[in-house]
Amino acid sequence: MVLRTVEDYKQGLRDNREVWILGEKVKDVTTHPMLRVGVETAAVDYEMAEDPKYRDLAVAKHPETGEPISRHYYLPKNAEDLLKRHELIVTATRLGDGVIPFTKDVAGDCLNAVMVTAQVMGKEENLERITEYYEYVRKKDLSVACGMTDVKGNRSLHPSSPEQTHPDFYVRVVDQNDEGITVRGAKIHITASAYSDDILVLPCRAMREDDKDYAVCFAVPANSKGLKHIMHPLRYQQSPLEFPVDEPIRMHTEALLVFDDVFIPWERVFLCGEWQHAGSLAYNFSFFHRHTASCYRIALTELQLGMAQAIAEYNGIDRISHVREKITNMIIYLEMLKSLAKASCSDPVMHSGVAVPNPIISNISKYHFAENYHNFVKWVQDLCGGILVTAPTYQDYQNPELKDYIDKYLGGRKGIPTEHRLRMLQLIRIWLASDIGGGVEVLALHGEGSLQAQRMIIYGEYQNQLQEYKERAKKVAGIK
Ligand SMILES: Cc1cc2nc3c(=O)[nH]c(=O)nc-3n(C[C@H](O)[C@H](O)[C@H](O)COP(=O)(O)OP(=O)(O)OC[C@H]3O[C@@H](n4cnc5c(N)ncnc54)[C@H](O)[C@@H]3O)c2cc1C
Repeated sequence: MVLRTVEDYKQGLRDNREVWILGEKVKDVTTHPMLRVGVETAAVDYEMAEDPKYRDLAVAKHPETGEPISRHYYLPKNAEDLLKRHELIVTATRLGDGVIPFTKDVAGDCLNAVMVTAQVMGKEENLERITEYYEYVRKKDLSVACGMTDVKGNRSLHPSSPEQTHPDFYVRVVDQNDEGITVRGAKIHITASAYSDDILVLPCRAMREDDKDYAVCFAVPANSKGLKHIMHPLRYQQSPLEFPVDEPIRMHTEALLVFDDVFIPWERVFLCGEWQHAGSLAYNFSFFHRHTASCYRIALTELQLGMAQAIAEYNGIDRISHVREKITNMIIYLEMLKSLAKASCSDPVMHSGVAVPNPIISNISKYHFAENYHNFVKWVQDLCGGILVTAPTYQDYQNPELKDYIDKYLGGRKGIPTEHRLRMLQLIRIWLASDIGGGVEVLALHGEGSLQAQRMIIYGEYQNQLQEYKERAKKVAGIK
C-alpha cells in the first residue's frame, strides 16, 4: 500500500464530476478559485503523511500486513488507538489554522460506524462488503465525504409518510436488480463532497418497517452518473479592505448532493432494507463523529482564546477583574472540552472488538462546546469593543493622508503598534463577527447534529445508570 501525495490526491479529483457553484458547472475543482481553498485544506492530511515531522502520527501500520496506511483508516482496538487518532485530528487542525482537513477524518468516522453496525447485524455478506471497501479505501488512500443529512421535508413526519409532499425527501432505493440498486433523493450540508474521492451515504435517523426503502447505506464515487454536487460559495481570497497575511485561507464548503437515480453495485451496498439497523448506524457514526468534532473544536478554541488574550492586552484591560473572569470562563470552556474529548477515548465502549468513543461522554463533549459557544463569542466580542465592526480598512491605513491619524487615534496600550491591534481585530472579526463567524456559530449548533440529537443519546444511553442510582436511592430510603 502506497500513501498518496498531495499531487496524487488532486489528480484523483480531475474526473469530470458534476460540480456546480454559483450556478456554473466547474471544470476542475482543484483550480477553481473557491473550491481549491477546500482542496488545499483537505490536503493537509496528505501533507502530514509526507512530512517527516508528522509522519509517525499520520501513518499507522496495517493491522495484518504491517504496510503503511493513513491512521484515520486504522480500526481502533483500544483507548490508546483512539487517543492517537485524537492527537492526529487536533494536530492537523492546528496546522490548518483552526480548520480541520476533514475528508479523511469523517471517512474514518463513517467506515468505523458501518463496520461496527455490520458486525452487530451479523449478516455475513454486509460484513464482507464493508471489510472489502475498508481495504479499498486504505489501499487507495482515499478521501471520503459523509452523506448523512437528508433534506427531510416535514421534520415531524417519517420518510415514507404519505403526508410528505413527495417521497424523495430522504434518499431511498427506487429500483434493484442482480447488479445493484438505484437510489434517488438529496442529502444536504455535505462537507467537501466536491473534493472527495467517494461519498459514503448513511441514513440520518431511525426507521420504521414502512421506511425500509430509506434504510440504505452505500459508497459511491463522487463522479458517478446522476450525482450532482451543488456547492455553497466560500471565502476564497482576502478582501482588499483587509491587512494582507501570508497564511493561506483555509475553509470548507458544503453541497446539496442530488442523487438523480444513481446506480450502486451490490459490492458497495452495506445496508438495504434492514430498517432495524438504520438508527444504530446513525448513532454509531455520531459517537465517532462527535468525538472528531470535539477534537477540531479544541484547536479552534485554542486559537480563539489566543485572540481574546491578545486583544485584552492590546486594549490594556487584561488585568481588570471582569476581563480576567471572561478569560477564565474561556479557559474553563476549553479545558472542559479537552477533558471530555480525551475521556471519551480513555473510556471507550467495545463493540465486536472495535473501540468506540464513549457514547455518553462524546455526546456531552459536543453538547458542551455547542451549547456554550455563543457565550464564548460574546465574551470575546466584549473584550474587543465596538471597533471590532467599525475599524477603518487597510485601504485607509495605506493612504498617507490618513495613516498618521489612524496610528495616533486607534492605538491601545503603549508599545503595541496600532497595526498589530487592527490586525488582531481583523482576525477576530473574521472568526467571530462576520458572515464566517455567524457560520461557525451555526456549525457549532448544527454540525455533527443539533443539540437535541445529543440530548436524546445522552438520556437514552444513561438508562442503566439511572436505574442503578434509583435502586441505591430506594435502599437508602428504606424501600424494599
Ligand atoms: C457547516 C455544516 C457542515 C455539515 N457537514 C455535514 C456533512 O459533512 N455530512 C452530513 O451528513 N451532514 C452535515 N451537516 C449536517 C448536520 O448534521 C445537520 O445540520 C444537523 O443534523 C441538523 O439537521 P438540519 O440541518 O436538517 O436541521 P433540522 O433537522 O431542520 O433541525 C432544525 C431544528 O428542528 C429540530 N428537529 C428536527 N427534526 C425534529 C424531530 N423529528 N423532532 C424534534 N425536533 C426536530 C432540531 O432539533 C432543530 O432544533 C453539516 C451541517 C453544517 C451546518
